[in-house]
Amino acid sequence: MKNGKALVLFSGGQDSTTCLFWAKEQFSEVVALAFNYGQRHRVELEAAKSIAKNAGVQLEILKLDLLAQLTVNSLTTPNMEVEKEKPEERPPNTLVEGRNMLFITYAAIFAKARNINNLVTGVGQADFSGYPDCRNDFILSLNKTLNLSMDYNYTIHTPLMWKNKSEIWQLSDELGVFNLVLNETVTCYNGIKGVGCGECPSCGLRNKGLANYLKSNCK
Ligand code: ZN
Repeated sequence: MKNGKALVLFSGGQDSTTCLFWAKEQFSEVVALAFNYGQRHRVELEAAKSIAKNAGVQLEILKLDLLAQLTVNSLTTPNMEVEKEKPEERPPNTLVEGRNMLFITYAAIFAKARNINNLVTGVGQADFSGYPDCRNDFILSLNKTLNLSMDYNYTIHTPLMWKNKSEIWQLSDELGVFNLVLNETVTCYNGIKGVGCGECPSCGLRNKGLANYLKSNCK
């Protein structure tokens, strides 16, 4: 039985779109929240709007300009190239320091004002990309901190935490949105919808997972 209200942190990418439809199965009421933080590709937000509309979910977009002023990374800095290979000794230059902590914190404040205590985010550590704020330890720690800071009983749901990309494709298929995720989401660091550029690390991960899923599923 579906129960309760949930807020999904939503970007219009593969992972958060899968989470949006997962949440629709789990909760009786779902709201989506996206952030405009000066990311290079506004096409992501356009995709988020159209997917949310398609899903019949209300989408709020909050402006968070400050983030791009605080940190240098290839997602918010024009003309800075996205690294093709993941460096050994440090996180990739697509890491936006503090992003998940800020996004989830703002989402929690937004949710409490609407009597929502379930937060859903698509972070995961199975295909670890070098982002420290995608790890389970961090999410558990932030959950505790948010509960203490606002005296509220939040649950941060991370349905993709232990799934690799192939398993995330499988979940989208089970949820009946495989084609929607395939064609309508933007995961590519170069902002190309659906199939993507095929060359950036994000496309690499997405396409490898897709190939493995299709192979194992004989599609
Ligand atoms: Zn790409």
